[in-house]
Amino acid sequence: MIEHRQTLINIKSDLLSICISALEKQDSYYEYSLLLHKCLHQHFDIDQCFFLLYEGETLKPFNINSTNEINEIPWENFESWFGQQKWVEVPDDLLMTSEFKQLTHMILLKVGHFDIHGVLLVKSTPKWSAFTQSEYFEDFVDVVSKTLSMISKNVVVRHNEKQYRKLYTMSDLFHSTMDIDLILENVLITIQENFPNFNVELILSNDQDRQTKIPIKQFDYLSERPSAIEAFVSGKIITEDADDLNCTLLNAPIKGRQAIYGILQVSAPYSYLFTSTQKEFIRMLAHASGNALENAKLYHQSHRLISDLQLINETSHRLNMRLDINEMFMFLQKQLMKSFQPMELCFVLKENDEYKLTEASTDLFQMDEGAIYINHVGNHFNKSHDPLFIADFSRLISKDVRYKSVMAIPMIVEQRINGFSIVLHRDSYFFSFDSFKLMQSLIHHSSLAIANSILRNQLQEMVDHDHLTKLYARNYLDKFVEQSLQNDDSGMFLLIDIDNFKRINDTYGHQIGDTILVQIGELLMNIIDDRGISARWGGEEMAVYVTNIHENEALQLSQQIVDSIPKATDPSVTISAGLVFWNKKAPAEYQKIFLQADTALYVAKNNGKNQVCLYDDSMLLQS
Ligand code: GH3
Ligand code: MG
Ligand code: MG
Repeated sequence: MIEHRQTLINIKSDLLSICISALEKQDSYYEYSLLLHKCLHQHFDIDQCFFLLYEGETLKPFNINSTNEINEIPWENFESWFGQQKWVEVPDDLLMTSEFKQLTHMILLKVGHFDIHGVLLVKSTPKWSAFTQSEYFEDFVDVVSKTLSMISKNVVVRHNEKQYRKLYTMSDLFHSTMDIDLILENVLITIQENFPNFNVELILSNDQDRQTKIPIKQFDYLSERPSAIEAFVSGKIITEDADDLNCTLLNAPIKGRQAIYGILQVSAPYSYLFTSTQKEFIRMLAHASGNALENAKLYHQSHRLISDLQLINETSHRLNMRLDINEMFMFLQKQLMKSFQPMELCFVLKENDEYKLTEASTDLFQMDEGAIYINHVGNHFNKSHDPLFIADFSRLISKDVRYKSVMAIPMIVEQRINGFSIVLHRDSYFFSFDSFKLMQSLIHHSSLAIANSILRNQLQEMVDHDHLTKLYARNYLDKFVEQSLQNDDSGMFLLIDIDNFKRINDTYGHQIGDTILVQIGELLMNIIDDRGISARWGGEEMAVYVTNIHENEALQLSQQIVDSIPKATDPSVTISAGLVFWNKKAPAEYQKIFLQADTALYVAKNNGKNQVCLYDDSMLLQS
């Protein structure tokens, strides 16, 4: 009896040592189990023993290295094995497990009636057997139970401390970076460190804008598992025993303050039960990464918005610098290329209800392949003012096309569509919605400037041309001649006056007179073409100016005009013309050239009309 008492005292002393050592180092169950085993060996010659720790309705093996895992055993089995007993023989069911094969007895480690701490399995020895019969055995169970409880609390505290340290370091990093890749990489590393035997996956939504090397799965509502979708929608951790994958999945939402950005999916062996500490750790990790991701996204978003605004501002500014329309489109082309990296791009203007391709368009649109897009978009804008954002054009027209991604934005001024721009890319889903919004802004801010430029061009056209004959106006001719005298090597100026035109008017009426003016205008434009310009000088007088021409060529051309007029007019008329020719040897003066032509014309009239006279200085004496 005294012997048993002494044993208990010795055991208590050993347990006290174990508790003290707990304060210093041991932080894994395995290390404790070795110490406990040593104690049992010393006092009872026990070679084999096994501790099971009670945790959330299951018993977890205690003295097992994490490498050779034994599944947890549900508590309810033990409950029936023990019945009202505190210690029983190891039941046959348990002996089937190789680790327990040698063991003979098991003791329920509990304090009072309800506080179960675990189960101790031993291979009984004579010493042990004798001790269990003694009055000190109950005390022994009590003190071992309490020690086990203390150890388990200590392990949990230490474990938590470690994890919180990791979380802290991770959050600390998150607060110091806006690098989304770095954040995601650290989430993966941290969780992998904590669950080295489990597989971890990041499933992120709405991230197509980013290129990354981190292995991330795209969250897809259509193909994701229901448990992942439930976690994503509810914002709660959802676990699932996935029979098909033979694993247990834990889905933790990556949640920020504004939204849920994806799922952190941990897959453990089938029917694994995550402890509440593990769940809490994963929840906090997912939460911290959600917030970090959100901050980084907002940061990048605000940067993008600023650069978008700068781009819009720069574009508006440039377009309002009174560029000509082609310069404008070229500039816009550059901006769109830079911002969206399309493979093809065009600007189309609406003129008299027809769509006309501008020069600032890529070659594709000159071809039939490009016309498919222009027609599709053109038809759309005939019915609607809404811009087009097409992720996969081939699906829309059920034809195989080379370019799948399409954005088309109308140029609208005062509720009218003046034209549109299209950008294309070969890959489907290439353009982001942000790009679409930016392109809308760019085109929207450019539309008025473009419309103004078109109006300015039209106005200038009107100012530069004579309304009736479509010939250039006098003003334009003046400027043209002045520039040619400065820049060219030679030139001819021909002043034309219709013979007896008053009589035509008197005979046939003014309207017929006008028709003749138009006929002469057309003839002049045909003959001169792009060698020079023809203009209405005033009334029934017209002028022709041709640059860089030889003298006899000038005479021939003038003669050709005089000869062609009677045939080109109905009723037929003739003209008289005064020609001035100049070159470097005999330069002309801007002030004098018109007067000289008028003089030559006067001579032509005097000489009997229907002829051209070349000016020379002797004519001044005649007139
Ligand atoms: P000449 O051979 O000497 O040039 O005889 P002319 O009748 O052409 O002489 P004049 O220069 O005096 O008359 C010009 C006429 O041209 C007078 C005017 O009625 C007519 N005229 C001028 N501008 C227009 C126009 O825009 N339309 C029409 N139908 N007639 C015009
Ligand atoms: Mg006249
Ligand atoms: Mg006349």
